[in-house]
Parts: sequence; C-alpha cells; structure tokens
Amino acid sequence: MKILGIEHIGVAVKNISDNAPFWNHILGLNKTGSETVKDQGVKTDIFNTGKGKIELLEALDDTSPIAKYLDRRGPGIHHVCLQVEDITTAIKELKDNNIQTIGDHYTTGSEGYKIIFIHPKTTGGVLVELAEKPEINHEKE
Ligand code: ZN
Repeated sequence: MKILGIEHIGVAVKNISDNAPFWNHILGLNKTGSETVKDQGVKTDIFNTGKGKIELLEALDDTSPIAKYLDRRGPGIHHVCLQVEDITTAIKELKDNNIQTIGDHYTTGSEGYKIIFIHPKTTGGVLVELAEKPEINHEKE
C-alpha cells in the first residue's frame, strides 16, 4: 500500500468545549471542521497544524468507542491516522498479511474520508486508522 503521510492524531477528551481552547487559542491552530460522525459514535473538532491535523474526539453516548476508551484509559492519544492512496488496496494487503482490522470494510469518517481501523493487537499497541481522502466533486465548481 502507499502511505501518503500522517493525516491526523486522534485525541480522546471528555468534553470538546473544555479542551478546544488550548488547541485553538493557546497553540493558535485553525479549526477546520466540527462534526458529528454517527457511524463512529463521536463528535469531533479538527485543527490543522499545517502538516497533519489534531482530531479531538468526544463520545456521543455511553456506547461510543470513545466512552469505553475514556473509562479504561482516561483522556489522551486515541489513534494515529495515516493517509493512504487507495483504501481498498490497503485493506486487501492487510487481510493477505493476517492483520486484524476492526470491521471488514471501510466506513465513512470525518471530512468524508474512507476509513478503517487496525486492531492495536496487531500493531504493537497503537490503534491505527487508515484513511483515503474523498475525491473532490468538481460538478459544483
Ligand atoms: Zn481519526
């Protein structure tokens, strides 16, 4: 698979509104997005560092993976996301190498990226997300 770089680092927080001011006002990072991703059970604020983003993640409810993470580990770095050129090829290569993904197919993450998570058991303890950037819709331009 072809990795294009670190897309973002996901940070689990109890409450985005308590934590966003540090990234926004102290570090002076541009907030480029704020959305609810129901598929993932999260609310997210995205800050662009210029080279890779910081994604703050808040649980939508108690069944959210972020709620479970906060219960077990407390707030902190939740995952690292690498941008891939082609997610379908990447998933096939993972399967061919017996690497355990969370779910068998990609889903839609924040900013419309096609995403899949790789189980930390097979990465040395880090939850790794792979993401393919959505194609820009030129019809609207
Ligand atoms: Zn992410």
